[in-house]
Amino acid sequence: MKTALEWKKYYSSPEFREHYIYDKNDLGVSCTDSGTSFKLWSPSADSVTLNLYQEGSGGEAYTHIPMKREDKGVWSWSSDRNLHGAYYDYSLIFEGESVRSADPYAYACGVNGRRSMAVDLKRTDPEGWENDRAPEKGAEQIIYELHVKEFSWDPSGGFPEKYRGKYKAFTCPDTTLFGDGIHPTGMGYMKDLGVTHVQIMPAYDYGSVNEAGKDTEFNWGYDPVNYNVPEGSYSTDPAHGEVRIREMKEMIQALHSQGFRVIMDVVYNHTYSLDSWFQRTAPWYFYRVFDDGRISNGSACGNDVASEREMCAKYILESVLYWTEEYHIDGFRFDLMGLLDVDLMNRIRRELDVRYGKGEKLLFGEPWAAAETAIEGGAVQALKKNMRLLDENIGMFCDDTRDAVKGSALKIKRPGFINGAPGKENDIIQSTRAWCTPQHGSADAGVKAPSQVITYVSAHDNQTLWDKLAETLPEADAAERMRLNRMAAALYMTCQGNLFFLSGEEFARTKNGLEDSFNAPIALNRLDWKQAWENQPLVEYYKGLIALRTRLPGLCDKSARASERIGNVEISDGMVSFEVDNRSETGCQKWDRLKIIYNRTREYRHVMAKGSRWTVLCDGEDSRLWTSVKYVSPDLKAAPQSVLILGRLAEKTGGGTGGMGDMTAGVAADMEADDTAGTETWEKQAV
Ligand code: CA
Repeated sequence: MKTALEWKKYYSSPEFREHYIYDKNDLGVSCTDSGTSFKLWSPSADSVTLNLYQEGSGGEAYTHIPMKREDKGVWSWSSDRNLHGAYYDYSLIFEGESVRSADPYAYACGVNGRRSMAVDLKRTDPEGWENDRAPEKGAEQIIYELHVKEFSWDPSGGFPEKYRGKYKAFTCPDTTLFGDGIHPTGMGYMKDLGVTHVQIMPAYDYGSVNEAGKDTEFNWGYDPVNYNVPEGSYSTDPAHGEVRIREMKEMIQALHSQGFRVIMDVVYNHTYSLDSWFQRTAPWYFYRVFDDGRISNGSACGNDVASEREMCAKYILESVLYWTEEYHIDGFRFDLMGLLDVDLMNRIRRELDVRYGKGEKLLFGEPWAAAETAIEGGAVQALKKNMRLLDENIGMFCDDTRDAVKGSALKIKRPGFINGAPGKENDIIQSTRAWCTPQHGSADAGVKAPSQVITYVSAHDNQTLWDKLAETLPEADAAERMRLNRMAAALYMTCQGNLFFLSGEEFARTKNGLEDSFNAPIALNRLDWKQAWENQPLVEYYKGLIALRTRLPGLCDKSARASERIGNVEISDGMVSFEVDNRSETGCQKWDRLKIIYNRTREYRHVMAKGSRWTVLCDGEDSRLWTSVKYVSPDLKAAPQSVLILGRLAEKTGGGTGGMGDMTAGVAADMEADDTAGTETWEKQAV
C-alpha cells in the first residue's frame, strides 16, 4: 500500500480532482417501497463487494454482491425491493489487499455501529412527526448544555427506571423529585427555568461506550464512529437499528413540544480512531498529513479530518443538512471549529439560510484547535482570529468573557473579575459589548456583531462554575460562593451575545473539582435533581435573570451596531458601571434605559442615577424586583459582590414608546442631554 504521503500527493493532483470529485448527493443507501440503492464513494478500490446480513452483529453474510463501478469513484448496486432492516458492510480490494468496512454514509447501524443497516426512514418517524415544528424564535437565545445520560440517570429525577439515561426520558414531561408529585425535574424544571435552546452533547454514534455493555458505562461521546446515525447506548434497543432513530426523533419531538429548540453537538474535526470507515474506503483522503509524513493531530485525539478536501467538505455539509431535514435539528455546535476551514463553515451557513431562512438555524463552535494542523491548499482555519472572515451568524464560544468574569479555565487557581483579579475592568466592559467596539469597522475589532459571540462562564469542559469559585476562593464560606455565583450569572446575563450555560450551573453543580470528566463515572457526572431543589434560591435567581433578559432589547440586540447602545461607562477598582439604550424598534418595552453596576468589592458603593423614573430591576439577592415598580432611593447602594440592574421607566407616549428615533445618533448624545435635563429632585423619585 502507498504511504500516507503518497496518497496525499495523489489526492491533491489535478488528475484526481478532475476525475473523482462526485457532485450528486445520493451516496449511502436510499430505501423506499420503490427499491433500495447502495452507493459508495471509493475512488481507489479495485473492487467492492456488498455483504448482506440478517443481524446487526455476528453471523455470516447471506449474500455477497459485486458492486458496479460508476463514474467519479462511485460503486453502486440496487434492488427493486424495499430492503429495510437488512444489515450490510463492504469488502474492498486495494492493491491486492482486502479490507472490510461499514458504510461511512450510513443512516442506520447495528449494535456498536460496526455494521450498517438499510433503513426506510419513513418507518422510523414517531406518531405526529409530520407536524413536529420548532417553537418560534424568542427575543434571545439561552442555551442549556445537556448530556442525554446525565439528564435522567439519577433516581432523584423520578424518571421511569427503564428510561433512565435514555432518549425516552425526554418523553416524560411530568417527572418530579423522587416522584413526589410536587417538585418538577427534567422537562418541567427546564421549562420553568426559561431556557430557549437545549444543546444535546454528542448523540451521533460514538465509540467509547460499549452499547452491549453495562448501563453504567459513561462517556461524553466526542469520538464519532457513524456521523449520520444516533448513538445506540441512549436507545432502549441498540441491536435493532431503527429503534435508536425513532427514539431520538421522539426526544426532539418532545423538546419541541415543550417549547425548546434543539442544538446538536457535532464533532466533524476528528474520528474515534484513524482506522475509520473513511480510512477503510478512501485511504488517507479524509485526513490531514504533514509534508514530512507526520499524521496531523490538531485535535489531540489522534487525527484531523481534512475539511478542506472537496469530498470531505461535501460529506460534512450533507451530514449537517441531513440532521436538519430528517431530525429537525435547530442548530449546531461545532467541536474544535478552529480545525475546520472558513469556506466550509460559510458554505454551511449559506445552505442553511437558503433552506430555512437567514440565521434561523444556529451555528457556532469552539474557535480554537488543540495544536497545529496540516490544513492544505491555503485554506483558512475558523479560529478566533479569523472571525471577521466568517458569516455574522457563525458564532464562537467567547473564552475572553468566560475568563474575564471568573478566571482562566485552564489555570485553575487564577481568578477573574468577580473573584478578585485586579485590572479586569476593561475586559468586563468589552465582554458587555460582546467584544465589538463602538467603531465596529476598526482593525482591533475582532467580532462583527454579538451574533458571533456565545457568552458563557461554564460548559462541559473544565471546572463547573461552583468548583472554580471554590478553587479560587478557598477561604470563602458557602454564603460568599453563592453570592459570587449569583454575581457571575447576573454579570454574563447582562452582556450582549447569545447566552449559554452548562446544565446545573444554576444549582451550583459540582464535579468535586474534576476538570475533565469525559470518562468519569456517571455517578459524578449525572444531574443531581435533589441538589436542584436544595439550592432552589439560586435556581430562582437564574429564572428571574432569564425572564428579565428576554425583556431587554438593548442587550438582546444582535446587530453590528448593538455595542453603540452601551455608554456612560465608569470604571474604578473592582467596579464597573454602564448604561444601555434599551429602546426597541418593534417592542413596547417597559424601560427605555438601563444602568448596570458590577461591584465585586466587599463594600457597599453609592450609585447615582440621574433623572427620575429609575427603578430597581435586580439586585444581588433578588432578580425579580422588575416584576413590580420599586423606584430608586437617594441613598441607593450597590451591595458587596453583586450586580445591580436599574431600568428607567419609558415615558408613555401616544403610540407606545415612540420607537428608536435616530439610532445613528447613538446612545451618547441622548445620555448627555439627559444629564442636563435631570433636574428632578431625589424626593420626587423615592416612593
Ligand atoms: Ca456507539
